[in-house]
Amino acid sequence: MSDRHPLPGFVTAHSHAFQRALRGRGQGDDFWAWRDAMLEVAEGLTPGGVRQSYEETYREMRAAGYTAVGEFHYVGLPEAKAAVEAAQAAGIELVLLLSAYGRGGLDRFRQASVSEYLGQVEELRAAGARVGLAPHSVRACPAGWLEEIGRYAEREGLVLHVHADEQPKEIEECLAEHRIRPIELLARTGCLGPRTTIVHGTHADENELSLLAESGAGICVCPLTEANLGDGFLPVARIREHGIPLCIGSDSNVRLDPLEELRELEGIARRQELRRNVIPVPELLSIGAAAGAQAIGLDDWPGIEADLGHLSLAGVDEGDVEAALVFGCGADVLVA
Ligand SMILES: [Zn+2]
Repeated sequence: MSDRHPLPGFVTAHSHAFQRALRGRGQGDDFWAWRDAMLEVAEGLTPGGVRQSYEETYREMRAAGYTAVGEFHYVGLPEAKAAVEAAQAAGIELVLLLSAYGRGGLDRFRQASVSEYLGQVEELRAAGARVGLAPHSVRACPAGWLEEIGRYAEREGLVLHVHADEQPKEIEECLAEHRIRPIELLARTGCLGPRTTIVHGTHADENELSLLAESGAGICVCPLTEANLGDGFLPVARIREHGIPLCIGSDSNVRLDPLEELRELEGIARRQELRRNVIPVPELLSIGAAAGAQAIGLDDWPGIEADLGHLSLAGVDEGDVEAALVFGCGADVLVA
C-alpha cells in the first residue's frame, strides 16, 4: 500500500523571481505604487545577487510542488544567464522568457532596438538555454517591435508571452495611442497564435476574448498576485465558454503554493457565477500542470507526490484525494 499519491509536477508559467523580495513590502495604495517599490528592487539587482536569490526562490518553488517555471525576465542579459544557472542548481526546469522592452521602465530593462533584443535571444539559444519570446507589454513595446517579434516567434516555432489587460490604465493608454485595445493590437501585429500566452487578461472584453479563441492563444492567470495587487477578477466562465486554455503563474511570488492558486481561481469563478464546480477538479489540476508546461513549450517535467499520511488528508477517501488537495490543503502536503 502506497502512502503517496502521484501527481504531475505543478508549473508556474509566469514568474518574476526577484519580486519574492517584495513580499510584505510595497504596501502602497495601488498597483502603480507597488510598481515603484518593484522598480527600486530591480534597480539594485546584480548577476551575483540573481544567481543566489533566484536559487533560493526556485528551491522554495520546488518544495511547494512546482517542478517547472517560465521566468519572465526583464532585468538584463547577464542576469538572464544567472537565472538559468540558478534554476539548474535548484533542480527546477526553466524556460527563460526573455523580455523585450522598448520604452519606459528602467535603463536596464530596455534594448536599444528590436534587433538588439533578437540578438540577445539568439545568444541565449546558442548557449543552450530554453528560451521564449516575451514582449513585455503593449506599454513597453512599440507596434513595430511587436510585428518583428511576432514574425520571429512564428518562424522559429517559439512560445510568445506578453502581459496584457492587467490594469484599466494600460488599456486606456493603448486606446489613446492605437485606438484599439491591447489584445486587438497584439492580433493586428501578428503576436497571437497557438504558442501565445497572454499574462493576466483580467480586463479583456468580448472581442479580445474572441480574438484569443480564434487564434488558439491561452491566458496565464496569476490569482494570488492579482488579488494582492488589486487587479480585478478574471472572467473565468466567459473564458471557458470561448474554449481559451488557462494556465497559472506565481508571478510576483508573494506566496508559493500551486494548490492555493488553483483554489483562488475556482473561488473567483464560483463567486462570479454563484454556483460551485465551475472548473472540475481534474481540469484545475491540469491547468496547474500540463497546461503550464505546454504554455512554456516544455514536453517533459518531473512529477511529484502528495503525502497521504499528512494530517490535512487524514480520513479522506482515495477517490476524494485530488479534490481535498485543491480545496483543503496547502503545498506542505506535496513531496517534490
Ligand atoms: Zn508579470
